[in-house]
Amino acid sequence: MNISITKTTNPIEKPTKDLGFGKYFTDHMFIMDYVAGEGWKDARIVPFAPISLHPAATVFHYGAEVFEGLKAYRRADGEIQFFRPIENARRINNSAERIRLPQIPEEDFMQALTELVKLDADWVPSGNGESLYLRPFLFGTDDALGLHSIKKARFMIICSPSGSYYKEGINPVKIMIEDEDVRAVRGGTGYAKCGGNYAASNRAGEKAAEKGFTQVLWLDGVDRKYIEEVGAMNVMFKIGGEIVTPSLEGSILPGITRKSCIELLRAKGFSVTERKISIDELCAAMENGTLEEAWGCGTAAVVSPIGQLYYDGKTYTINNNEIGAVTQLLYDNLTGIQWGRLEDTFGWTVRL
Ligand SMILES: *Cc1c(COP(=O)(O)O)cnc(C)c1O
Repeated sequence: MNISITKTTNPIEKPTKDLGFGKYFTDHMFIMDYVAGEGWKDARIVPFAPISLHPAATVFHYGAEVFEGLKAYRRADGEIQFFRPIENARRINNSAERIRLPQIPEEDFMQALTELVKLDADWVPSGNGESLYLRPFLFGTDDALGLHSIKKARFMIICSPSGSYYKEGINPVKIMIEDEDVRAVRGGTGYAKCGGNYAASNRAGEKAAEKGFTQVLWLDGVDRKYIEEVGAMNVMFKIGGEIVTPSLEGSILPGITRKSCIELLRAKGFSVTERKISIDELCAAMENGTLEEAWGCGTAAVVSPIGQLYYDGKTYTINNNEIGAVTQLLYDNLTGIQWGRLEDTFGWTVRL
């Protein structure tokens, strides 16, 4: 793929503190356009700026959008690396397939990511826990309201320097188990990383925030009985010595952090079971003290210990509201590999 590069003549001033998440953007962005019958064309890196789209574009009316999230990490030796980026390239295509957006060749995805981060390399921060968050996204741009298959699309990547998720140390979060709204159902778009799933989550998220909870833990959409995931993270539990996580059956997002946690734990000799976990089993384990640890896992936080769970009028405290040993082990090992402090024996990292 040939990528044309237009460098900015007006560089943006880099923020020096309180990076937060997704607030600042780098000098450049990647764009390419798709037309059915012609394929992808016009791959370009241009100065970061608003874009202009036809008001009838499919993305605005019928929610044709999928996205990814990954990070570029600054190693102590100054070099920059990605963590399992090929998994993101594969997943965006799996997501796109579900809502009939065009496929992006994996090598083009990787090339776009690499050239963009090379150009904006000075934006990869080096502070503790900081990274450059990368947001690839793909959406329909057909300029007509008639419902038909998507013939035009756009793929973009924007980059945002982000601060440490844990500025004040790893504090366990308070989670509310949602028993009214559901996020996704089997056969729907739950396994696709698409904007529509987030739209469906907004109401429960707001309700949880009003009540002082950080996020929602979703139950399955059919029986409201089985645990699915937490907000934008997958979820894992240690119950009576067994590490368990809900199996992927179509309604749960297949997280790369989830997969990495499972592979890492197995490599360290732990057994991990992917299976259905009912809310009744979880409540029983909280009542009888066998729920030893609970944590969410996703790119943004890596792992996030769950200190309190609220369900059906009751608040349960897990592991004295402290981070557990397995959660800590995952955090230390994954962040160690991501920032290059630990040797990557899995071959997960890709140097820029
Ligand atoms: C992105 C995402 C995750 C986590 O996936 P990672 O690849 O680990 O970042 C989990 N659940 C949802 C709904 C997501 O969108």
